[in-house]
Amino acid sequence: MKNKKKDIRALTKKQLQEFFVENGDKSFRGSQVYEWLWSKGAHTFEEMTNISKQTRTMLAENFVINHIRVDQMQRSSDGTIKNAVKLHDNLTVESVLIPTPTRTTACVSSQVGCSLDCQFCATARLKRMRNLNPDEIYDQVVAIDNESRLYFDRPLSNIVFMGMGEPLMNYNNVMKAVEKITSDEGLGMSAKRITISTSGVPKMIKKLADDEAKIKLAVSLHAATDEVRTKIMPFNETFPLEDLREALEYWYSKTKSRITYEYIVWKDVNDTRKDAMALVRFCKYVPCKVNLIEYNPIDDGDFQRASSQATDMYQQLLERNGITVTVRRSRGKDIDAACGQLANKSAS
Ligand code: SAH
Repeated sequence: MKNKKKDIRALTKKQLQEFFVENGDKSFRGSQVYEWLWSKGAHTFEEMTNISKQTRTMLAENFVINHIRVDQMQRSSDGTIKNAVKLHDNLTVESVLIPTPTRTTACVSSQVGCSLDCQFCATARLKRMRNLNPDEIYDQVVAIDNESRLYFDRPLSNIVFMGMGEPLMNYNNVMKAVEKITSDEGLGMSAKRITISTSGVPKMIKKLADDEAKIKLAVSLHAATDEVRTKIMPFNETFPLEDLREALEYWYSKTKSRITYEYIVWKDVNDTRKDAMALVRFCKYVPCKVNLIEYNPIDDGDFQRASSQATDMYQQLLERNGITVTVRRSRGKDIDAACGQLANKSAS
């Protein structure tokens, strides 16, 4: 029976106001409760002290607040924090706080497990259990904002959807969470500080462009020929580079927002000059920059990090062709919090 109760945070403000009117109260009561749920982050109805006891009991009879719980927090020697987040149905996802001298970035999950099958990624080994709800995504951000204030004395400054899951395969919920994060009734953050990272789902990239969400886009490219990309990211067979290219051109024509390509160089996979030249050519299609990411080995993984000469070769070729490139060192490796390492392993 208890599952019959509805998650109150699945309701929009308008729906909540209507609920109160239908129950003989004022629509204003809906706004008050909405504020408790979102701006004040209430975990229980009892906390809503300006709502009468009778109304709180009535709410508890009809609804639940499915709040996430940070089950375990691990801190890396470099300051990175990883949260193991328990969901109401006992599943777990992970989110990460990455501090630098000038910013705090939250890396959040969008699915439990992942729908895709990237061969080098630890999350891909977990099958996709379910999509996260908007409030579960929002709660991860709030938890990291609180930790940022507590441990670093400043609010969260940036958000990247680079945790578990493929955000564009949980599009509606991710966008609802973004709406909440950016609205004044939520965290009031600027959309420009939010990056959605995708393995490259062409149709959804176009939809994102049409929806004018004002967020930044990153694409996990890792190879710029279909031959190599299909080997390491098998879904490339379904969404080949030509389709991705077309979607990215569409994105740029609509948004004028530069794309970030994430790219790992592996030994004997994509470490030749030919591979690097293919990337240079791909980068000419749409204004972009490249993040060369350090590979974080995963257990029993077949992939090995390329030599530093290979990474240097990439960097030089890109720079010589006028493409901005950054070499990214990993953070939080000692607690399995780095890119591609999120797989619900805990310290114990
Ligand atoms: N599905 C989305 C969001 C996940 S982001 C996407 O693919 O973009 C996770 C990022 O970490 C991606 O860029 C992914 O390619 C990268 N990654 C995955 N496994 C990794 C590993 N073992 N080492 C370093 N980066 C990895």
